[in-house]
Amino acid sequence: MLIVDVHAHLDFEEYDNDLDKVVTENQAAGVKAIVNNGVTPESNRKVLELAKKYNIIKPALGFYPVWASQAKEEDFDKELEFISKQNNIVAIGEVGLDYIKGDDNPHGDKYKHEMKACFEKLIKLAEKKKLPIICHSRRAELDVIEMLESSSMKKGKVIMHCFMGRQHLVKRILDNGWSMSIPCIVTKLQQLQLIAQMAPIEQIFTETDAPYMSPYSDIKRNEPRFIVEGLKKIAEIKKLDAEELSKMIYMNYQKMFLK
Ligand SMILES: [Zn+2]
Repeated sequence: MLIVDVHAHLDFEEYDNDLDKVVTENQAAGVKAIVNNGVTPESNRKVLELAKKYNIIKPALGFYPVWASQAKEEDFDKELEFISKQNNIVAIGEVGLDYIKGDDNPHGDKYKHEMKACFEKLIKLAEKKKLPIICHSRRAELDVIEMLESSSMKKGKVIMHCFMGRQHLVKRILDNGWSMSIPCIVTKLQQLQLIAQMAPIEQIFTETDAPYMSPYSDIKRNEPRFIVEGLKKIAEIKKLDAEELSKMIYMNYQKMFLK
């Protein structure tokens, strides 16, 4: 298998104790590239460090919507400046909008205005750097789509990560020529299975969102190699051989991320 993970967070503390081992094991299992998405200034720096150390880790820098909207404007702008100076990154991500109130987003959509202002600046940054943008959207799917459509990213490289929006929005994304990154829990979620069915193979990527969303009930921490489960499920839906599908997605990866 040629496994590609376009959305992981191996910089998170869950891997602090054994990342060497994790990388070695994942490489041995066929993982060829892990696009590690940064979520805060601290995380972005760690992502760059990891990418220097491990060949298979490719750096994407961003600012998670919830924290972006909470940051001081001055600090946010400073981080944008930092990202814009990096010449070896492969994408802008993780960025987007999140309106769901929960443990990781105590204010829900209260700071919607700020969140949108931050996302707008991050879209501009992706435009300026001519890089793919990896977007998070939770209960904010339409806003994310509309903001991207009204930018030059409409014709650009857009990847919607773990998209859970409604079917007509999935269609709109695909009609725009953008890509869907399908997490390995596609094994369990019908909504994701529907995306796998609707999306042409050229618009499909695989991801984990590791350390979250493990496809196994007895292993809590996710790893890029577990994408094999997602590949099997997508292959079944597409009536293809999983090995064959993995090669096609690897080609998508090369086209999207390698200059
Ligand atoms: Zn993520």
